[in-house]
Amino acid sequence: MSKVEPAPATDPAIDLEREKQEILSRYRSLLRSLKGERTPEGVRRIRKAFNIALEAHKDQRRKSGEPYIYHPIAVARICAEEIGLGPTSVLCALLHDTVEDTDLTLDDVRELFGPTEATIIDGLTKISGLNVTGSMQAENFRKVLLSMAQDVRVILIKLADRLHNMRTLDSMAREKQLKIASETLFLYAPLAHRLGLYNIKNELEDLALKYKEPEIFEEISTKLKKSEPVRKRFISRFSMPIGAALEKEGFGYEIKGRPKSVHSIWNKMQKKNVSFEEVYDVFAIRIIVNSRPELEKADCWKVYSIVTDYYQPNPDRLRDWISLPKANGYESLHTTVMSPGGRWVEVQIRSKRMDEVAEMGYAAHWRYKDSDEKQNAMDAWIDRIREALEDPGSSAVDFVNDFKLNLFSEEIVAFTPNGEMRTLPAGSTALDFAFDIHTDLGRQCIGAKVNHKLVPLSHPLRNGDQIEIITSKKQQPKEDWLNYVVTAKARARIKQNLRDQKKKMAGVGRESVEDHMRKWGVKPDAKNIAALVEYFRATSENDLFWHVARGRFDLDKITPAVSAKGRLELPVQVPQGDERSFEEVVAEIRGAKGGALLLGDDLQRIDYQLSKCCNPIPGDDVFGFITQHDGIKVHRVSCPSAVQLMSNFAYRIVKARWKGKDQMEFLAGLRFSGIDSAGIVLNITTIISAEHNVNMRSIGFESNDGIFEGKVMAYVQNTDHLNQLIEKLRGVEGVKSVERVDH
Ligand code: MN
Repeated sequence: MSKVEPAPATDPAIDLEREKQEILSRYRSLLRSLKGERTPEGVRRIRKAFNIALEAHKDQRRKSGEPYIYHPIAVARICAEEIGLGPTSVLCALLHDTVEDTDLTLDDVRELFGPTEATIIDGLTKISGLNVTGSMQAENFRKVLLSMAQDVRVILIKLADRLHNMRTLDSMAREKQLKIASETLFLYAPLAHRLGLYNIKNELEDLALKYKEPEIFEEISTKLKKSEPVRKRFISRFSMPIGAALEKEGFGYEIKGRPKSVHSIWNKMQKKNVSFEEVYDVFAIRIIVNSRPELEKADCWKVYSIVTDYYQPNPDRLRDWISLPKANGYESLHTTVMSPGGRWVEVQIRSKRMDEVAEMGYAAHWRYKDSDEKQNAMDAWIDRIREALEDPGSSAVDFVNDFKLNLFSEEIVAFTPNGEMRTLPAGSTALDFAFDIHTDLGRQCIGAKVNHKLVPLSHPLRNGDQIEIITSKKQQPKEDWLNYVVTAKARARIKQNLRDQKKKMAGVGRESVEDHMRKWGVKPDAKNIAALVEYFRATSENDLFWHVARGRFDLDKITPAVSAKGRLELPVQVPQGDERSFEEVVAEIRGAKGGALLLGDDLQRIDYQLSKCCNPIPGDDVFGFITQHDGIKVHRVSCPSAVQLMSNFAYRIVKARWKGKDQMEFLAGLRFSGIDSAGIVLNITTIISAEHNVNMRSIGFESNDGIFEGKVMAYVQNTDHLNQLIEKLRGVEGVKSVERVDH
């Protein structure tokens, strides 16, 4: 990040002498923060590093105008105080920006301090150059983390660096703030989580939210503050009987009500789509017992037993991270119990040691303890972290998913089956993703597997999704696809393809018109074509060709006369009137005979739509209903709303019937259920897409205890076609029922 500004050497507003004093005072505080780790040799080396950093950054200022050296000192102090790192890390933190920003080289560092320090600083410099939010692939992402993990201190110092940058984000331009905050949510907060630095993780997330969504952050913080007295009362009432029982058992203990972070509350509000007031667990109750190391586990379970003596636990919400600690070192017993007020409360039970590790991370807990146990515990922790990062059982994609990629609100990242990362605007669908990869993939998309689950092509994607696009050679873009995409690229490609389809159809229509004209013995010139346009009331030549190709205008049905000059002579068509009673209309609809609104051609030409509530297809008994604003809507006579429409708004009913022999496709829904067995989904999709020349628009399966339920929306030509399909599906082994659904 470009936080470096050359200092105006003679700015009279800056009191250089006072600044020097301030720098020294901050440096001394840093040394004090080392506490027990302060050895004369360590201090000597740190002073050397400090002097080098001071010299290297002497001409630089931060965006805020402060001397640049404030930043490395602050980072070093976070390392010591908040992460619990020792002199080597403090030294490296002081130097962390020197190689990147100044003339100092890695060789210099190696010569002056040693190979360990050079390795750590090399790692720190490499991560700086890393654009984590770009189009980096999942596998690369993992490699970078692995190289960082060669010395875990690289990641820890980097986190301290990021934390300080987040704390001082105010002076940055808005755009920079957003970028840095997004990166923090994307990479650094999950990293802190993975390393078990919960306090830092929470602070990073809250700061990121503060800059990304200032109003939301402000609102939630205010509400948290306002609800504090109520919360405190609740907690003290809740704790009273437990406290008494713990005392009776002779436990040394502390009970705290820990409010959750603003960010986690906001997350819950979004995920569950609820208001602040409806988030039930804005806090957790934590019971910390003073235990001897060998009794920790038993004591925690004793406390659990006491808690559940008073409050009913939810058996599904018991988590035992004491028997099986998390890789990041987290140990605790979690349960959720019903409070007297009738709400669920999370209770965390742990020993004092466990609490320190959980709050500050492993290093911080062990830093005051000078023992072999400390070294062992640290080594074990670092090994576990490394194992977690290296876990061969998790694919690169799982690995990145695990990091819960809450990237930008405006952008999401998604992955191909190979782990290639694509960045898309928020709201993008599987179809957008397909077009983003390749136009052909988009054109032929019939659905997708998102995280191995079948979804329709209109399925909105979420951060971290892995998407496999399912294609069919027979698929073609449809008009309604334009409603399912948000990217400009997909939109443009679909439109282009629709235009091409139309052009191709018009070409076919033109040929047919010319053939007929030759048959009739007239020249296919502009005048004769114009006569046909007029006869069919088409809007243009192309419109005529298009409808001829779609079969709406049937040239075989006309027998034109030919004038002496070789001109086509056609009778004038008289529009048919319709003055019958409602009963007659209904009767006629049901009989579906006689003149009526002709359906089944170009839906764009006449102002009618097939209603979404019953999805009529050719062959269905249908009627048109004149709506107030949307033109004519066509419903099936069996549509649940038909009776109501017909009886209350008879005057707005229009007869309608299908025109035959059309190649137009219509959307129909099928629901089926059966016994889940291997391959059943494949069998069903194969039948639908391959055997029956049917294009699927969407498909979804859900399986529960061996019973699966599925729903398919597919394009079919008419009821015969649909019934054939239903019969075929009924024949699939395991399928118990197949039925058409209205919507
Ligand atoms: Mn820095």
